[in-house]
Amino acid sequence: MNPTGKEIPRLKIVNGRVLTPQRIIPNGTVLISGKTIVAVSQGDIDVPDATVLDAGGAYVSPGFIDIHIHGGGGHDFMDGTEDAFLQIAQTHARYGTTALVPTTLTSSRDELFNTLSVYERANRRNTTGARFLGMHLEGPYFALNQRGAQDPRYIRDPDPAEYREVLDRSSAIARWSAAPERPGALAFGDYLRSKGVLAAIAHTDAVYEEVVAAVQHGYSLATHLYSGMSGVSRRNGFRYAGVVESAYLLDELDVELIADGVHLPAPLLQLAYKIKGPDQCVLITDAMRAAGMPPGPSILGSLHNGLDVIVEDGVAKLPDRQSFAGSVATADRLVRTMMTLAEIPLLEAVRMMSSTPARVMGVADRKGEIRAGYDADLVFLDEHLTVQLTMIEGRVVFRREAVPVSA
Ligand SMILES: [Zn+2]
Repeated sequence: MNPTGKEIPRLKIVNGRVLTPQRIIPNGTVLISGKTIVAVSQGDIDVPDATVLDAGGAYVSPGFIDIHIHGGGGHDFMDGTEDAFLQIAQTHARYGTTALVPTTLTSSRDELFNTLSVYERANRRNTTGARFLGMHLEGPYFALNQRGAQDPRYIRDPDPAEYREVLDRSSAIARWSAAPERPGALAFGDYLRSKGVLAAIAHTDAVYEEVVAAVQHGYSLATHLYSGMSGVSRRNGFRYAGVVESAYLLDELDVELIADGVHLPAPLLQLAYKIKGPDQCVLITDAMRAAGMPPGPSILGSLHNGLDVIVEDGVAKLPDRQSFAGSVATADRLVRTMMTLAEIPLLEAVRMMSSTPARVMGVADRKGEIRAGYDADLVFLDEHLTVQLTMIEGRVVFRREAVPVSA
């Protein structure tokens, strides 16, 4: 019997090395009923009517949660089609992602509203890809000289009439990234917080005092640490701590790491891990459309007015090859990079890709851990941390090769 593609009433995963936040359970069993994990144990659980899925000694990891992602499989969330949303969700599911936060680029008002309504429709149809946890709006309230690949024509100060309208029209927004030093950004943070939307600091030139104010006004996450943000600066001889140092110093701030092994070298991954720890570091792909695709030419951002880029060496570059133009990472690669490049233990690398992002996004009551009562979002990983099988809410959505199953 082959469980691919359908939900089985009672499913028992046996012979797995089950990863929990605290330990690896050898010869672990995970019992699933419908969409939900109902029991986790060492050794077998006697359930006569259960279908058995043999993990064959693989690691059984909680599904990966990617809270900052723009695309994959040749599609970008800004393409404005339901198909793009669904294809991205399916592409990343093959690499172990079971939930993600679709992220916009700074765009025109019409494009943004279209993307939000496409999200709602795609979300209802998404039964075979990584689940959507709400949208992340990346911009437009950014510092102009920290904009990175964001379109400068749209960058501006927070406008209460505008953001109130956006949040009134769509309940799909889970997080919003902004530069807290822009006039109006503190009131914006308060407003986001009042609406239950996660406020993140991004593409910013703030100094420490401005970051402290941001934290007092609801900002609680530093978007892609080191990318598009200030470090130590000097004015008239005096040094000022930037956003990087502030994120390290302030316990209220969680941090995102683009852990593709290209954007941040080993010592910076290790430094972030050493200072913030696995419960405050969130691994993100920040992937553009070329994730999960072969190297070669691609487009950053929308198909209509995006930037031509070239994908090589595991990263997207501007055509002159002088700067990066986006990540092409998948979640499994982030976990491998943290282990092999940054030499961080497996359990903690997985934690930064599962329970920590679940907590940051407010879904830790049902996702991010292999635990009774939680969604049956699981990934089988072999010795090389290659994804062998992905299960989302009790349904196998991807398998690399035949994994023995018996009724
Ligand atoms: Zn991004």
